[in-house]
Amino acid sequence: MIKKTSTLLTICVITMGSSSFEKHAGDGARFAPSRPQIRTVVIDPGHGGFDPGTHGLISKEKNVALSISLRLGKALQQEFPELKIVYTRTTDIMPGNKPTLPEGIRYRAELANRSHGDLFLCIHCNSDGHDPGKYAVQRLLRYKTVGRGRRKRQVPVYATTWVKNTTVGTATYIWKADRNLPKGDAINQRQGLGENAKADNAAFDMTSPEAKMRAQLYEKKYFANSALLGTLVQNEFVRSGRRSEGVVQRQVGIGVLQATGMPSVLIETGYLTNKEEELYLNSKKGQNQIVNDIVNAFRQYKARLDGKQKHGEKQKH
Ligand SMILES: [Zn+2]
Repeated sequence: MIKKTSTLLTICVITMGSSSFEKHAGDGARFAPSRPQIRTVVIDPGHGGFDPGTHGLISKEKNVALSISLRLGKALQQEFPELKIVYTRTTDIMPGNKPTLPEGIRYRAELANRSHGDLFLCIHCNSDGHDPGKYAVQRLLRYKTVGRGRRKRQVPVYATTWVKNTTVGTATYIWKADRNLPKGDAINQRQGLGENAKADNAAFDMTSPEAKMRAQLYEKKYFANSALLGTLVQNEFVRSGRRSEGVVQRQVGIGVLQATGMPSVLIETGYLTNKEEELYLNSKKGQNQIVNDIVNAFRQYKARLDGKQKHGEKQKH
């Protein structure tokens, strides 16, 4: 779940893409035909430790997200043995054992950037804001008269009814492109951290117009790639019969997507607040289907990126 009011959210992020091209932009002509565009995928199971995320009737988001994430990493590794998988956590802890949410988010982003991730994948479960299973709703029945004389007045009479929580479905979040400074900063920081071995990078001025322009170019590419992957993921969910809320851009609450200098998506794999969907999210069958859908999307995404390169589409700084 992404908290709508907070920028300090625990989120899963996927990062991809930048490092291979930054590191090898210069020798692209020699290596382009065979060099895969995605070599490191960072998988970020949402929440963890003292932060449980949302919850259903029988489970907590942090545990479901972790279980799906570990299965996802395993499945990706099996199909793409050359891929390096980095997890922000593999147990029930706040990543890096950090004591606060903001520090946990910073750790996630820094790990992704430090690992030269080419894709950042956050795995979460959603909540519609109501209690899981069913929730009480007050319904106006009628008005009744109370008091006497000048104190006489009408007061409402309510009946409590229980409403089944029926919200289900999936969504993929990407950061909002129209406020791109934080992402630009993250991209520049990555470049400034010596990922690129060029000598002039040692004195890389992150505030220079050139740096800003370069960050904007990367940002456009990362945004397009994130939107592409998000669309492919949602398409696969729909093919599996899931309801899709589509690819959603949100500024607030996805700080970790913003802070990673690479394509990043946050996948809401379903609602824990719906009884049936919670059972699905907790089942081996459900988790495997979700993983399968994401792997299918990843395969298409990877082919698209590698194909572009094979066809000689030269990427520029
Ligand atoms: Zn969450």
